[in-house]
Amino acid sequence: MPGFPRLQEAYDFVIVGGGHAGLQAGLKAALLHFSAVVIDRGPKYSRSYYSPRMDNIPGFPEGISGHELLDRQITALRQHEDRVTYVTPARASAARRTESGFEVDFEWLKQPRKVRGKTLILAPGVVDRIPAVEGKIEPIFPWANQGLVLFCELCDGHDLPGKTVAILGATRFTVNLALELQHFGPASMEILTHGELFLGGEPAAERAELERQLRTAGIPWLESEIVKFEGIREKNFTVKFADGTTRTFDLGFSGLGWYDMHGDLPHQLGAAFDPDGYVQTDEDARVLSAETGSPIPGLYCVGDLRSGWNQIPEAWATAERAVIDVFARLA
Ligand SMILES: Cc1cc2nc3c(=O)[nH]c(=O)nc-3n(C[C@H](O)[C@H](O)[C@H](O)COP(=O)(O)OP(=O)(O)OC[C@H]3O[C@@H](n4cnc5c(N)ncnc54)[C@H](O)[C@@H]3O)c2cc1C
Repeated sequence: MPGFPRLQEAYDFVIVGGGHAGLQAGLKAALLHFSAVVIDRGPKYSRSYYSPRMDNIPGFPEGISGHELLDRQITALRQHEDRVTYVTPARASAARRTESGFEVDFEWLKQPRKVRGKTLILAPGVVDRIPAVEGKIEPIFPWANQGLVLFCELCDGHDLPGKTVAILGATRFTVNLALELQHFGPASMEILTHGELFLGGEPAAERAELERQLRTAGIPWLESEIVKFEGIREKNFTVKFADGTTRTFDLGFSGLGWYDMHGDLPHQLGAAFDPDGYVQTDEDARVLSAETGSPIPGLYCVGDLRSGWNQIPEAWATAERAVIDVFARLA
């Protein structure tokens, strides 16, 4: 069992979340000679952890996997242990304002702890909804790990040209994703609702309009329940339905949206959210108050949870902006 890292009485920065954004915030804080603590559940909860190859990371022309990039960021952070305390596996559960900044409650190996800091950076990311078969999400993992089922339009859309693609989902989000992915020129596309009523929650007129757009784009939908995924050896995505029929696609694409927007902490601190549940910030990643619309002093939100684009370079950029903003204000 790892020993509990010794915590300082207070830090310049408390950073909740040690994915791509939180690790970069910690590194930048150290480089600008601040003290920081990074509280992280563990890299396997980062969105990119299961991505086998990412193609938009500068300096890696052959691509790099999500977990290798996280490992490299952790190695970089650990070189600054004199300034940054990296606490993992640790889960932050509550945050509040104090006279001198913020206090965060977290659990480390089931033990409750507290940490204080002048500035709080929220970087817990968001969590994708994973396609489940008979209530279990594990069946999809082998296909996701091999990049045969994709999750991120901006990251993986470029893999679609000439491919037959199954989009999993039954909502407006699914339809919009399918229509947008047409941009990349797949050979064909089909929506699989996995037993759910297609666009079940939509008013009749809006449903009819979305269905019209799909017909125009040549994207059919199928409401049969899926009982199994097959084809991993053949490197394809074969779907077996409850009636015994199967269909084979080159790729699957999850169109299920988000499972957890990690809204608890920002909500406790009075943050404003956009209609999709992302935290609203200004351009320096300062969290805007739901009450006044102005930045909440000392509170920042970076990475996927911030209203913006969900990409690693954006996670890094927002982390840099937050720490540099604090530095610039002191200067
Ligand atoms: C399959 C897939 C492939 C992708 N491919 C690419 C790609 O090719 N290129 C690209 O640019 N982007 C890609 N992305 C998007 C990219 O992964 C995200 O934009 C990026 O991970 C966001 O970084 P983040 O730090 O905000 O969140 P994350 O990297 O998700 O990290 C969040 C961290 O917060 C921690 N955490 C959460 N809650 C708590 C809590 N309460 N207490 C403590 N810690 C907590 C988690 O343990 C995790 O380590 C991909 C995403 C997916 C799902």
